[in-house]
Amino acid sequence: MSSANIAKGSRHLRIGLWYATLFVLGSLAVVTLTYLLTASSLEQRDQQIIQSKVGEYAVVYERGGIEALEDTVRAEQQTAPERLFVRVVDRGTETIVLSRPRGWDPERLELASLRLSDGTLVQVGKSTESRDDLLARFRAVLGIVTLSIVLVALGGGLLVTRSATAPIRALSDAVKRIIQTGRTDARVPQTASRDALDELTGLFNSMLDKIEGLVTGMRGALDNVSHDLRTPLTHLRGAAETALAAGPDLDRYREALADCVEEADRVLVMLNTLMDISEAESGAMQLQREAVKLSDVVSRASDLYRDVADLKNIVVHVDAPDDVVVLADRTRLEQVAANLIDNAIKYTPSGGRVDVDVRRDGGRAWLRVRDTGVGIPADERPRIWDRLFRGDVSRTERGLGLGLSLVKAVVEAHGGSVQVKSEPGKGSMFVVSLPLE
Ligand code: ADP
Repeated sequence: MSSANIAKGSRHLRIGLWYATLFVLGSLAVVTLTYLLTASSLEQRDQQIIQSKVGEYAVVYERGGIEALEDTVRAEQQTAPERLFVRVVDRGTETIVLSRPRGWDPERLELASLRLSDGTLVQVGKSTESRDDLLARFRAVLGIVTLSIVLVALGGGLLVTRSATAPIRALSDAVKRIIQTGRTDARVPQTASRDALDELTGLFNSMLDKIEGLVTGMRGALDNVSHDLRTPLTHLRGAAETALAAGPDLDRYREALADCVEEADRVLVMLNTLMDISEAESGAMQLQREAVKLSDVVSRASDLYRDVADLKNIVVHVDAPDDVVVLADRTRLEQVAANLIDNAIKYTPSGGRVDVDVRRDGGRAWLRVRDTGVGIPADERPRIWDRLFRGDVSRTERGLGLGLSLVKAVVEAHGGSVQVKSEPGKGSMFVVSLPLE
């Protein structure tokens, strides 16, 4: 057994002992109280018996003298189940003992005395022997009961703590398995009890689901990054190698170096964008927040793509009132608008139309980019926000597959959200919602 298991075992034992001690103390209090109540009620009953007897005998003595009392005592004591001690002390001088059962210990007598008007003292005593015997038997029984209680409490306490801590142990075993194997697919089995521990187990499993999702996502992203880096780096190396192999030719070298710079830029843009996305997602992105009119943002962004749109014969229509103001990082928002407008133009065939509009509604600012382009197939729609994901239609277009990931990360870093609606063959609509200033 490992030291951790020993510690765990001793903790169970300790909790079990605590339960048992409390249970035993409570039971002991009940047992002691029962015993004291029984003893005192037995004593009370004896007292009542001898008190009533001493009164009875005093009356007989006063009426018929010592002879009458003697007759009564004799007659009564013959049939009585327990003989009493009876004596009369005549004015403090002569003592007449009327009944003294043999073998009685005068020390263990419960006594009741009554002094008559002429000074005579009538005394009745009852032995406490049978009472003591009864109490001794009672004590023995209580001792056995207490011992059974201790054993039951100890066993029960251990059982209760073991079963109560079972889910915790299952939880820590699962954690240990995950730490040892590094596999996040282990789950803690849940019970149907719906108690706090079960809830914790559920939360723990959901946390593992989330971690597993993140790890899988990160692995996928890393695979994609490695894959996507390979192409520009291979081009870069190819350009340099070909130039070197061709021998000294200044023009060729220039051309090769220009190719290298272009490919290196591509890699740099990709890495910078990936870092921006990570920063925005983790909350580490420095946002220079200021009051920004969304109309300014969309007009600057659409101006950037005016020429490209003209070349493709696409109409870009902007409808943005001046009163929609958000507290945001202007440059980052322009990046968001630019990426959405760029995509809309990129994935719309010539002769199409792109509508950019801004409005305020329900306490939020809305930025909508609609196009009459190729649309996004339903199976691709959930993945367009993933890093480096590029749809089938994008094969012939320039791009890194990072635009929408950045849009989503930046919008969410501003406390907003972005959604897409699309119908393949008809067009797409991206809607960004941001809190108003
Ligand atoms: P890319 O660099 O490929 O444009 P994005 O992250 O901007 O990367 O977009 C991811 C994918 O989403 C694109 O490859 C494309 O398949 C799809 N997509 C984005 N915007 C549109 C749009 N307006 N119309 C159709 N498809 C789009």
